[in-house]
Amino acid sequence: MAWDFETDPGYQELLDWADAFVREEVEPLDLVLGDPYDKADPRYKALVRPLQEQVRERGLWACHLGPDLGGQGYGQVKLALLNEIIGRSRWAPSVFGCQAPDSGNAEILAHFGTPEQRERYLRPLLDGEISSSYSMTEPHGGADPTLFTTRAERDGDGWVINGEKWFSSNARHAEFLIVMAVTNPDVSAYQGMSMFIVPAGTPGLTTVRNVGVGPERDGGGSHGYLRYENVRVPAANLLGEEGGAFAIAQTRLGGGRIHHAMRTIAQVRAAFDMMCERAVSRETRFGPLAKLQMTQEKIADSWIEIEQFRLLVLRTAWLIDRHGDYRRVRKDIAAVKAAMPKVLHDVVQRAMHLHGALGVSNEMPFAGMLLGAEALGIADGPTEVHKITVARQLLRGHRPVEGLWPSAHLPTRRAAARERYAEALERAVGDE
Ligand SMILES: Cc1cc2nc3c(=O)[nH]c(=O)nc-3n(C[C@H](O)[C@H](O)[C@H](O)COP(=O)(O)OP(=O)(O)OC[C@H]3O[C@@H](n4cnc5c(N)ncnc54)[C@H](O)[C@@H]3O)c2cc1C
Repeated sequence: MAWDFETDPGYQELLDWADAFVREEVEPLDLVLGDPYDKADPRYKALVRPLQEQVRERGLWACHLGPDLGGQGYGQVKLALLNEIIGRSRWAPSVFGCQAPDSGNAEILAHFGTPEQRERYLRPLLDGEISSSYSMTEPHGGADPTLFTTRAERDGDGWVINGEKWFSSNARHAEFLIVMAVTNPDVSAYQGMSMFIVPAGTPGLTTVRNVGVGPERDGGGSHGYLRYENVRVPAANLLGEEGGAFAIAQTRLGGGRIHHAMRTIAQVRAAFDMMCERAVSRETRFGPLAKLQMTQEKIADSWIEIEQFRLLVLRTAWLIDRHGDYRRVRKDIAAVKAAMPKVLHDVVQRAMHLHGALGVSNEMPFAGMLLGAEALGIADGPTEVHKITVARQLLRGHRPVEGLWPSAHLPTRRAAARERYAEALERAVGDE
């Protein structure tokens, strides 16, 4: 019976190497380098390329993909254990070749791309030579893709795209964008939308502005508000089947959501470590903060919530490996997605609070982490939508009760039990 919580020793050695490597070589990069998606930055080649080589030599490059696609094919559980380390650092996903949104785009190109599309877009993406963007959300409402209006119309040997997209992350550094558009407005959105590969610089594609999150300076953000005006792409740039966008989006977002959750474990553990360090370091007149019961409660609650979340993530990863199909694990992925922002928010908030003024200052990372938790509750679909998915799937296993009383109604159950055992009970009393 396979039901254990141990990592095989060979892989544990790799994880130990990755842990030390990220701490010593990669986390310092977060403090000196800019945008990981700016592949034209000369510092990228000088500082990041050699680190990527070390990752390749260890067999840890692009672990989210199978071996036929240049990845390692370790599966989601091993990937989760690695992501628990990588997620600590802003730069580490790029150093390990698994940064979102490129990882999700690579996954759908691998699954649905033609050999030409793979050669032109997937190969350089996997090699870390270029960045990409995923252009799905629209300004008037992203949580419900059936409301999307960006239109792609067939014209001769190509398609012409018109519309606006919102929060296309890293569009400003992308060599290409994967765009979702309505191709047949006469059928349901589930059959009437398609995906296209649009190379950067295609005439008609303009950036209205780059939107930032939180206090990022005006225009300095990395989420593209894009306008597509008669953007023409050849028919060969259709990704997957015409009308197949929803299925492709599910493949992409299923993987994306669980990978974010794996990396969130790293973030939330980092906040927890900061909280514990503070608790044993900061003195009050009653001794260190750690001696105060309300501090202890914060630490105990945080650890329990982190471990619960981690088990949910690992179990979901295991289910994905088992079924090999994100759709069969939709409820579990939705549950992980809904739990993720809350655990990060709650632990970071406690850690921030225990650091006093320093915690809310710009000399500690907590404010950015809190904002990150909020963003996790929106990106890839808001928490409410995922809770709806969980609840709907769970309710499918339940039927309405016949009659007035619930099936757990004690008087009804007691009466039924009495009837069932009436003879035996009578006999037992008579024998006394
Ligand atoms: C950091 C970040 C990165 C992103 N990157 C990308 C990207 O690369 N590409 C891309 O295409 N998009 C991206 N997005 C956009 C993201 O997918 C959308 O923001 C998300 O789907 C929600 O859409 P919206 O912002 O339009 O919110 P809305 O649809 O306006 O929803 C707002 C709120 O309304 C409520 N709500 C909406 N619908 C329901 C419902 N059915 N039931 C209950 N409550 C509901 C929820 O509280 C929700 O939070 C990113 C977003 C963020 C924050």
